[in-house]
Amino acid sequence: MHMTKTVGIIGGGPGGLTLARILATRGIAATVFELDEHPLARPQGGSLDLHADSGLRALREAGLEAEFKAVARYDDQGDAIYDAQGTLHFQHNEASAGDRPEIDRTQLRSLLLESLSAERIRWGSKVSAVEPLPDGRYRVVGPAGSLGEFDLVVGADGAWSKVRPLVSSATPAFTGVLFIELQIDDVDTRHPEVAKLLPRGKISVVGGNQGLIAQRSSHGHVRAYFMFRVSEAQLQQGLVDTSSPARAREQLKALLPGWAPSLLAFIDACNDSIAARPIVALPVGHRWTHRPGVTLLGDAAHVMPPFGGEGVNMAMLDGLELGLALAADSDWSQAVKGYEAAMFERAAIAAEGSMQGMDFLSEHALEHVLEHFRGVQQELAALGSH
Ligand SMILES: Cc1cc2nc3c(=O)[nH]c(=O)nc-3n(C[C@H](O)[C@H](O)[C@H](O)COP(=O)(O)OP(=O)(O)OC[C@H]3O[C@@H](n4cnc5c(N)ncnc54)[C@H](O)[C@@H]3O)c2cc1C
Repeated sequence: MHMTKTVGIIGGGPGGLTLARILATRGIAATVFELDEHPLARPQGGSLDLHADSGLRALREAGLEAEFKAVARYDDQGDAIYDAQGTLHFQHNEASAGDRPEIDRTQLRSLLLESLSAERIRWGSKVSAVEPLPDGRYRVVGPAGSLGEFDLVVGADGAWSKVRPLVSSATPAFTGVLFIELQIDDVDTRHPEVAKLLPRGKISVVGGNQGLIAQRSSHGHVRAYFMFRVSEAQLQQGLVDTSSPARAREQLKALLPGWAPSLLAFIDACNDSIAARPIVALPVGHRWTHRPGVTLLGDAAHVMPPFGGEGVNMAMLDGLELGLALAADSDWSQAVKGYEAAMFERAAIAAEGSMQGMDFLSEHALEHVLEHFRGVQQELAALGSH
C-alpha cells in the first residue's frame, strides 16, 4: 500500500536529495521543502571526496554513477602535509589510484536535482515547525501556514533542524574550534605562488593549536580553512571582522605568528568572501526513541566536526538506507525503526572518529597526522598492486 503514502523531506542538501532520488527510482514520490529560493541561491561550498561504501554507493544505487563519473576529479586526490614553518613532511601524488574521487558540492547538488522531476522540490519553503495531527500524520508548517500533511516527515534540514525537537531535546554544541573560510579564484593564472604549493588535491598545515586545510575545486578555485581553538567569549566577540575583508586579512596574519610567508600567501590571495564557521556537534552516540511518522538523517541526526570528511558521505548513506528500507517494507514504522537502529550505530562510530580528528589541532598533532597518512599511503600501495 505504500504507493499511496506520502513523504515530506525537509531540506534539499545531499542527504535529503539522495533520499528523494532513491524513493523516486523505487516508485515512491516524496516532496522536498528547501529554504533556498533556487538551486544557485548560495554557493554550496567546496570540494568533497566521496567514499566507496557510502557516498559512491548511494550514487550507484541511485542510478547516477555515469553522471558522477562525468564530473568527478579522480586526479585531485593528492595530499601534502606541511608544518607552520613551511617544511614539507609528507606528500602523495598517486592521486588517480585512490578510491575517494572529488566532486564540487554544486555539481553534486545539480546531479541529484537533475535526476528528480521539478515538481518534487518546493524551493523557497522555509519550514518553521512540524506538528503532529490526531490521525498520526504530520503537518509541515512555514511562516505563512501549512505547507502540507504527510504520513512520514524526514528531517534532512542540517545541524539546526526544525524537525529534531519532535524526537530529541539534544542541540548541537560549539566544539571550541572555529574555521575561517577563504576562497581563491583562478589560482593557476592569478596566484601562481599558491598554485605551486597546491598543485593538485589538498594540503594540510599542522601548526599546534592552529592549522590550515586548503583544497582545490574545479576551474582553479581553492577553498582554504584556517583553524583555531577559541573560547566561547572569543567566538561571540568575533575572531576576525569578516565584514571588512582587508581588516580580516590583517587580523588573520596577526593570529599566525611564525607561519611561513609561503603559507600566509593564501590569505593575500583570497577574494572578499571571508566567512567564520564555528564547528558544532551533537553528542557522540546521539539517538532517540522511535516515534512513528517522523525521523532524521544526516547532520540533523548526527552533526559532527568535519575532520575525516564523513558528513556528506554519512548523509548520503542515510538517504540511501532509509529509502531502501521504505521501499522494501510496507510497514513504514518498522522500516524506519530498522533504519534508525543501524544509523545510530554507524553514526556513533563516525562521530567518535571525527571528535578524535580534532587532535589535528594540538601540540603533538604532527606525528599523529603523519602516522595516519603513512597508513593511507600503504593502503594506496596495496590498492595499486591488485
Ligand atoms: C566548514 C565545513 C567543512 C566541511 N567539509 C566537509 C567535507 O569536506 N566532506 C564532508 O563529507 N563533509 C564536510 N562537512 C560536513 C557536511 O557539510 C555536512 O555533514 C553535510 O552537508 C550534511 O548534509 P545534510 O544533507 O544532512 O545537511 P545540509 O548539507 O546541511 O543540508 C540541509 C539543507 O536543508 C536546508 N534547510 C535548513 N533548514 C531548513 C528549513 N528550516 N526549512 C527548509 N530547508 C531547510 C538547507 O538550506 C540545506 O539545503 C563540512 C562542514 C563544515 C561546517
